[in-house]
Amino acid sequence: MSEVFEPRIVAFVCNWCTYLGADLAGTTRLEYPANVRIVRLPCSGRIDFNLLIKAFEIGADAVLVSGCHPGDCHYNTGNYHARRRWMLFRPLLEVLGFDMRRLHFAWISAAESRKFQQTVKQVVEETRQLGPYQYPAPPTDSYGAGREPHKNHFDAAAAQQRAREMLEAKEVDVVIGYGSSGPVFIRRPEDVDQITCEETGLNLAAYLGRKEVRAMGRAAILTKPMDAGALVVLERESQIESGAVKTIPIGEPGKGDFSDLDALLALPPAERMAWWAGEFARCTRCYACRQVCPMCYCERCIADKNRPVVIDTSPTPVGNFAWHVTRAFHLAGRCVGCGACNHACPVGIDLRLLNMAVHRAVAEQFDFNVGADPKAESPIGCWAPADHEEFIR
Ligand code: SF4
Ligand code: SF4
Repeated sequence: MSEVFEPRIVAFVCNWCTYLGADLAGTTRLEYPANVRIVRLPCSGRIDFNLLIKAFEIGADAVLVSGCHPGDCHYNTGNYHARRRWMLFRPLLEVLGFDMRRLHFAWISAAESRKFQQTVKQVVEETRQLGPYQYPAPPTDSYGAGREPHKNHFDAAAAQQRAREMLEAKEVDVVIGYGSSGPVFIRRPEDVDQITCEETGLNLAAYLGRKEVRAMGRAAILTKPMDAGALVVLERESQIESGAVKTIPIGEPGKGDFSDLDALLALPPAERMAWWAGEFARCTRCYACRQVCPMCYCERCIADKNRPVVIDTSPTPVGNFAWHVTRAFHLAGRCVGCGACNHACPVGIDLRLLNMAVHRAVAEQFDFNVGADPKAESPIGCWAPADHEEFIR
C-alpha cells in the first residue's frame, strides 16, 4: 500500500496577532491539520528570509509567513517593513525558479482564528498536491566551467594625464588605477605611467573602505560607467563622506538591458531551478565575488557566522543555494551593476542575473535608481503605506 504524503509546513508567525489567532483556533476547537509547525517570532518584521530558506533546507515542503494586518503592528511599522522585503524577495526567488506555490504570506489577526484554520487547510492541501519539496540534483557535468580573464582597453594616456594633474595640484593624495597585475595606488605624479590601458573588471571603489587605503588620504579612482554609482551608495550608507572621493571616468557607457534575464525567465520555473542548481554546483565558496564587491563591506559576513550557522559554509548544494540567495538579497537596492563579481568568479557563474532581477524589481516597484541620489532612502530600509502587492492573503 502506497504511503499518503503528509506535507510538512513551517509557519513563521507574529507573536501579537497570528500566534494568538492560532491559539484561539485551538481554544475554540477549530480543527486544522497537524502538518503545521508554528514558529513564533516577536514581529513579522523580524522574520528574516534566511529562516525561510533554512526551513526548506531542513525538510519543509511549504512555508507560511503571517503577521498583523497593515496598520495593526504592535511596533507600528514592522509589518510594513516585512511587506517591503517580501516584495523584493519574491522576484529573486522567481528568477531562481523556486516554486512560489510553496511560499505563502498572510495577514491574520488575533481574532481571526477561522482565517488561520482556513489558511492552514489550504496550504496543506495545495502542498499535498505539489508533493515533497526537493532541491534539484545538480547535473554531474557542471564542474570546471571557468572563464577567460576579463580585459578591456581604454585610453590610458588621458587617465594618466588626469591623475598627474590631480596629484600635482594636491587635489588628492592617491590615485587608484588598473596596473599590469592588479590595482595600483599612485601617490607621486612621476608614477602615473603605472596605470595601464587595460581594465580588469574590478570596481576600484571596493578598495576605498580598506584601512590601508584610508590611511593614504584623499583618493581618486578610475571609474567605468557603472562603477561611479558605488560611490553614491557608499555615501548613502555613510561609508564615505560626500565629495570625498574624486573620479577619473574611463570607458563608454554600455547598453544595459534585461534581455538575458528575460530569456531566463521565459524558461519554466523547474527548468530555471535545475539550471541554477548546475551553476551553483560549481561554486567553490571562494568568496571572490564578495571580496571584489564595493557593497560587501561588513566586517563579519553572515556567511562566516557560526553561532548559529546561518549558511552552511561548505560548498554543498543547499548551502550554495542559501549563499547565493543571501548574497543577492543583501545587495537589494545597493548593487550598482558594475559586474565586478561576475568577472571575479573563477568558475564563471553569471551572478549578474540574480543582481539584475532584484535591481529591476527595485526600479519597477519603488521607482528607485540605485546609483543616482546619495540622499535617497534605501528601498529596503523604508516602506510606504501604498506599497502594492497581490500575494498576501
Ligand atoms: S554585486 Fe553588484 S555592486 Fe557588487 S560587484 Fe557585483 S555587480 Fe558590482
Ligand atoms: S566567486 Fe564564484 S565560486 Fe567564488 S563564492 Fe562567488 S560565486 Fe562561488
